[in-house]
Amino acid sequence: MRQIIAGNWKMYGQLGGVTAYAEAIRTAPDHVDLLICPPFTLLDRFSTALKGSAIALGAQDCHGAAQGAHTGDIAAPMLAEAGASHVIVGHSERRENHGETNADVRAKAVAALAAGLTPIVCVGETEAQRDAGEAEHVVRTQLTHSLPENFAGVVAYEPVWAIGTGRPPTEAEVAAMHTTIRAALVAQLGGGGEKINILYGGSVKPGNAASLLALPEVGGALVGGASLKPEDLLAIAAAAPRG
Ligand code: PEP
Repeated sequence: MRQIIAGNWKMYGQLGGVTAYAEAIRTAPDHVDLLICPPFTLLDRFSTALKGSAIALGAQDCHGAAQGAHTGDIAAPMLAEAGASHVIVGHSERRENHGETNADVRAKAVAALAAGLTPIVCVGETEAQRDAGEAEHVVRTQLTHSLPENFAGVVAYEPVWAIGTGRPPTEAEVAAMHTTIRAALVAQLGGGGEKINILYGGSVKPGNAASLLALPEVGGALVGGASLKPEDLLAIAAAAPRG
C-alpha cells in the first residue's frame, strides 16, 4: 500500500505564499501520495498552482448537507468544485472547538463520499482518556460511530495530546493502536477494512518520521505544523518506506 503524506495547514497561510510552496513540493518523491489541505480560501489558488502534478488537494472540513442555510459552513460539492479530492473530517480541533459528535462526523463523511471526495476521518483519545486506560475503547467507539457503512476512505489516528505538543506517543503505543484500528476496520468493513490507509498524526517531524512511518499498520502521516515548511514536508515524505 502506498503511503499518504497529508499536510494540514490548519488556519495558517495566505494567497501570496501558495505559488512558491506549490513549486517547492512539486519535487516530492514519487513513492508516496502527497496531499495538501490548506484553508478554504487557498483551495482554488492551490488547484491552479498544482495543475499537472500528482499532488492532491484536500479541505479541512465540510458540512453534512450538500447545500442549505448553514451560515459559515462549506459543502462537500463546493470543495470538489474548488479542486479538492479529499477532505479531513472529525479533526480533534473540530470535535473540541465545535462540539462535533461522532454522528456529525459520520454525516460529513457520507456527504464527502456523495460529492466524490475521499474523507480522512480523524480519531484519537485525550490524555485523560489514555491515562485512565480508555484509549483503545475511545478510538474503537469513534470508529464504530464515525464511519459510514461500506466506508471507503482514509482514517487518521491522532492522539489529542500529541497534536502540536512536540510529544508523540512511543513507537510501541503507535504500533499497538494502529493494530487495534486495523482489526476494528476489518471487523466493521470486512475486506474493505484491509484497504484503508491508517495515517498517524501528532508531532510528526523530519526527525521522527522514518521511525513512525516504518511501524506496522502505519499507512502515512497527517502533518500539522511541519507541513507549513515545504522542506519539512518533503523530508517527511522522503522518510516514508519504499514499497
Ligand atoms: C494535526 O493538526 O493534524 C497535527 C497532527 O498537528 P501537528 O503535526 O502540528 O501535531
